[in-house]
Amino acid sequence: MNFKMVELDLTAEQNVTCPICQHAVIDWSQEQYVQPCEHTLFIAFDLGFEYVSDPYEATLARSVDEIHAHDDQINLLEDLKQSSLTDYVIHRSAFGMPGMYRYIGFKA
Ligand SMILES: [Zn+2]
Repeated sequence: MNFKMVELDLTAEQNVTCPICQHAVIDWSQEQYVQPCEHTLFIAFDLGFEYVSDPYEATLARSVDEIHAHDDQINLLEDLKQSSLTDYVIHRSAFGMPGMYRYIGFKA
């Protein structure tokens, strides 16, 4: 695997912070709770992307539009595994629905 998966022990109601600058990239106090910082590669959950940086999207085998066009059969982790980017981290945390997770990619 080209990334390191870090499991966060957070509930779905808690903010998620960047490991580098501590910015809350998921910030429930904001109306728009997706608040990527300069270290954020993407913010996603099992059914699709909520945010993706252009440089990260360029490393994927399929574009995010292509991935979302088949949203009845998304296997997000498989698409993440096909990224050509190496040496980054994905923080996995609860999404608030059974069997679903939020995935946030950060530069290492
Ligand atoms: Zn940051």
